[in-house]
Amino acid sequence: MLRKKHLAMILSKLEGFHNPKPDLEQYRTPGDVAAELLWIASGDIRGSTVADLGAGTGVLTVGACLMGAKEVYAVEIDPEAIEVLGRNLESLGLSGKVRVLREDVAEFSDRVDVVVMNPPFGSQNPHSDRPFLSKAFEVADVVYSIHLAKPEVRGFIKAFAIDHGFMPDLIKTLQFEIPAIFSFHRRRLERIKVDIYRLYVEPR
Ligand code: SAH
Repeated sequence: MLRKKHLAMILSKLEGFHNPKPDLEQYRTPGDVAAELLWIASGDIRGSTVADLGAGTGVLTVGACLMGAKEVYAVEIDPEAIEVLGRNLESLGLSGKVRVLREDVAEFSDRVDVVVMNPPFGSQNPHSDRPFLSKAFEVADVVYSIHLAKPEVRGFIKAFAIDHGFMPDLIKTLQFEIPAIFSFHRRRLERIKVDIYRLYVEPR
């Protein structure tokens, strides 16, 4: 049986972005944050079809496979990230479980059981999280997502989910480190706080 700490360690050792692109908000999910999300989502992931929107180097895709997903769609627009993702899958023997789709999330159209995602936070391009949330609400009834832990973001996520017929459940708030190239600060790493949500359609 895989333990949460072990999962976090495996995920933090994966190959990361080589030259992260600020306009795409390419920062990988830290292993411990990803493991936390996957742990919370484990009941929904086991035996299910999962989509990872904006999969990047595949932290959540790999994690979903290790948590027993039947199949994972990794949707990512950047070919360089996809190369890294492919190597990460191969290094763990997971390529057979994952369908990698090089496209804009807006183009993804397969129905899945659950979406896991760490979308752009919208700090570089305001509202860049919206196409991710809209797509997730379109293709799944259960969505796990990571967003900035700020009052205005919380208000937006809640209203946007309810607008789409989803219940917003803020499950956990965690520290998240992002490289300074994504901010105007002097520090090498900036610590921010993020919220992990479960957004879901209430079963009738
Ligand atoms: N989910 C990954 C990466 C998060 S960074 C992880 O947890 O580590 C956000 C990712 O979304 C980046 O890889 C970026 O290239 C991708 N992305 C940004 N806009 C996109 C879009 N419109 N369609 C598909 N992918 C996009």
